[in-house]
Amino acid sequence: MTEKTHLPALTWRNRARGLADSLLNFVFPPVCGACKKAGALLCEACHAQLQWVHSPLCNRCGRPTSRATDCCAVCQERPLPLNQIRAAVLFAHPVSKLIHNLKYNGAFGLSKPLAQLMSDAWAEWRMPIDLVLPIPLHVERERKRGYNQSTLLMHDFCRFVGLPYSEDGLQRTRFTTPQVGLTAVQRLENVQDAFATQVDVVGKHILLIDDVCTTGATMASAATALLNNGAKSVSGYCVARAI
Ligand SMILES: [Zn+2]
Ligand SMILES: [Zn+2]
Repeated sequence: MTEKTHLPALTWRNRARGLADSLLNFVFPPVCGACKKAGALLCEACHAQLQWVHSPLCNRCGRPTSRATDCCAVCQERPLPLNQIRAAVLFAHPVSKLIHNLKYNGAFGLSKPLAQLMSDAWAEWRMPIDLVLPIPLHVERERKRGYNQSTLLMHDFCRFVGLPYSEDGLQRTRFTTPQVGLTAVQRLENVQDAFATQVDVVGKHILLIDDVCTTGATMASAATALLNNGAKSVSGYCVARAI
């Protein structure tokens, strides 16, 4: 097992990336990933429409609830192996559009404003974390897309908040069909035993990063692999919560 963790300090890579971003913005001024207005990757008008996740919610799965609870009815029925799952915003316009363009239209630069939302909300959800890992795509799907959106989000998020990460600490062990359209039980079965740990996680508090969380099934499967390999705890953080 290889140890490949990184601290997102002011490395030459981050500095070079910042310079490259400035140059790119000069040559190709950004347009809003939701409404195409020129000026920013997420314009002010779209930003004003964001639905931030706030209490009350289930302390465990982070699902918005009518009153704060330590364990909602869904968690009672299907307990999650994760300590907590949290999201920055609800999965609604404009974030749904940004995530769609990030995943399916090659707009990989949108990871930055989306990770900024995660960073902005982190002050509210902050958890003690030793290592951050992205939810991996299957190698075939990543090859087709050219990148893993969760890895991009993780890079930007860790750079913003200064947490250590490992970009290939988890791997998909088999191909799974997309979770969209499946019931909660089907989602669990679809991703069962789909992950393997590639980095030393013994005794560590792990934070998983993903773009969207619906039932938490994908994160639960990844968390089980990590806990089986000695992780002390696993939590999840994503850009958007789908209800
Ligand atoms: Zn806009
Ligand atoms: Zn819950």
